[in-house]
Amino acid sequence: MTKAAHNKIEVDMEMLRYLYEHVGLTAREAAATLEVGIGTIYNRLRVLGITKSNSESHMGQKPWNYKGRYKDSQGYILVHVPLDDKFACMGSQLNSSSGVYIREHRLFVARFMDRPLDRKEIVHHKDGDKANNTLNNLELMTQSEHMKHHLAALKAVGVEV
Ligand SMILES: [Zn+2]
Repeated sequence: MTKAAHNKIEVDMEMLRYLYEHVGLTAREAAATLEVGIGTIYNRLRVLGITKSNSESHMGQKPWNYKGRYKDSQGYILVHVPLDDKFACMGSQLNSSSGVYIREHRLFVARFMDRPLDRKEIVHHKDGDKANNTLNNLELMTQSEHMKHHLAALKAVGVEV
């Protein structure tokens, strides 16, 4: 996902706040997701009014609402999101009364687009790594666009489809 004006210095501040405070990424994980340096993240957290002591306490430890971020059997990262989250409707309620689990790549693109994704919308990993949820690695496609993309990729390497 890229915005026209996206570059390495510009940080989507709302996205950062969301990743950090709501999804519960550490500053380091947020830096990787937004493809900026850790120093930029600390700088922007300060601008957002999230104090250095708060952000430092984040480095080894997850915030109170953090229930888990793990890789599922298919290789996707799942994150726990509270029920009052704007995007909770995209999740499924796996053994959790306090929230839902959402595939992180879908959640990040939804947050970036500022709307929940439809089930028919596919978030494609450009580099093929299902766990690389850096925004620049993600692309929103329709089911048919996605199928065409993968069929073309298979044909390109000589697979009969
Ligand atoms: Zn794909």
